[in-house]
Formats: sequence, C-alpha cells, structure tokens
Amino acid sequence: MRDIIQSKKRGNLVVISGPSGAGKGSIINEIVKGNDQVWLSVSMTSRSIRGEEVNGREYYFITRDEFEKKIQEGELLEYTEYSGNYYGTPRGKINEHLQMGQDVILEIEIEGALKIKELVKDALFIFIMPPNMKELKTRLKNRKTETEEKINRRFKRAYQEINEVTKYNYVVVNDELDCAVSKVRAILLAERCRVDRIEEVYVGSEEELLHESLVDNKKIVNLERKI
Ligand code: 5GP
Repeated sequence: MRDIIQSKKRGNLVVISGPSGAGKGSIINEIVKGNDQVWLSVSMTSRSIRGEEVNGREYYFITRDEFEKKIQEGELLEYTEYSGNYYGTPRGKINEHLQMGQDVILEIEIEGALKIKELVKDALFIFIMPPNMKELKTRLKNRKTETEEKINRRFKRAYQEINEVTKYNYVVVNDELDCAVSKVRAILLAERCRVDRIEEVYVGSEEELLHESLVDNKKIVNLERKI
C-alpha cells in the first residue's frame, strides 16, 4: 500500500548564527559528521587562515581583490564585512543539494542571515548562545589565534549580535556540547515533520480496504491550506 503522506523532498535551508566563541562550528561539525542528509556550505573569506584551518574545509581563503571580483560577478548569494574581513556564501551547489533532499547549513552572521530571510521565505534560522558572557570571553581568549585587539572587537560585536536573537526561529544555549547538538538535531527533525511540507495525503477508500482487488483505484486527497 502507498505511504499515507507524500511530503516535499526538497531539504531545508538552515541558517546558523551566534557570536564568535559560542561554539557554532563544534555543533555543526557534530551534526554533519557521517550524516548525508545534511550538507554544509563552505563560505569564502578574505581573512587569513587561523590555527589548524584548511583551505576548502573551513573556508575558501581568497584575497580581498578576488573577493571583490566574486561580488561583481554575482557569485555570492550574500556577503558581509565582519571585523575588517569579507565573508560570503557561494551560490555554487546550494540549490542542487536542496533538490537532492539534503538540509543545507549556512554558518553565517546576522547581516547575512537577514539577507537570506529576504531571499528564501521558508529558510530556518537557529541562533547559538554561549552560556554566559564570561565564558564567551574565556573561549575567545583560549583560541590563542588572534590578537587582544581582534578578540575585543569580536567580543563587542557579540553584544550587538545577541540583541538580534528574536529575528531567529530557534535559540540553543551551548553550555554542554552534546546537549546543544541534540537540540539542533531535534529542530532539524521537527522541521521535517511540519504539516506545510505535506504535498498529498493518500487515504484510499473503504472499498479498497475491504476488497484488495480495488487497490489500484487510488484516491488522493489534496489538502486545502488555510493560513
Ligand atoms: P570567523 O572569522 O570566526 O570564522 O567568522 C566570523 C563570523 O563570520 C562568524 O559569525 C561567521 O558565522 C560569519 N561568517 C562565516 N561565513 C560567512 C558567510 O559566508 N557570510 C556571512 N554573512 N557571514 C559569515
């Protein structure tokens, strides 16, 4: 017998933001690891490589000139300048992965997130919070990959970003990594169960159930959507 529900195959575009040091990267790594239902978009940036980062894995690291050329050629879905460097999302393969049914994750800051909100009406927005501001500062300092001045700039920016949390659909406090990862997984799962993803409900008919010979006499109910 057919499945009762036929849902949209297309994946969700998922924007994840939060101040530097909130732990977005660690959460996303766990979500993506070994999960082919999720695809992480790799951004481009003009900032220099930090610590153990690898070109093409964390970011595509390019020069400011190259970045400006990408902007002019319309290759970026959105971009911003953050702490003196460019960051942007390549249009690249986002649509292809959504069509394949994968959720596509963009790890971007608030300005980029608001641009995506304008462009993609059904995108999903998750904000990752640090447990408190003292812990955030400690995490930024412990990275030991940036100057005191840059750390302070990121810390100041964190205050502005946290103020924007109400523009997101979900908030997850990252006090304990496993717990935060479970929450983000739960959000992605719940979004897949949304009624507005349903394209058809197939209920068949009573006769069909009584006489299996009628099983081909399919009845499809299209839902009326009332908003
Ligand atoms: P970081 O230098 O710590 O890797 O990133 C700085 C900020 O830039 C983070 O908040 C990160 O989410 C954001 N970011 C990374 N890639 C992009 C992007 O493609 N577009 C936008 N708008 N922000 C990005």
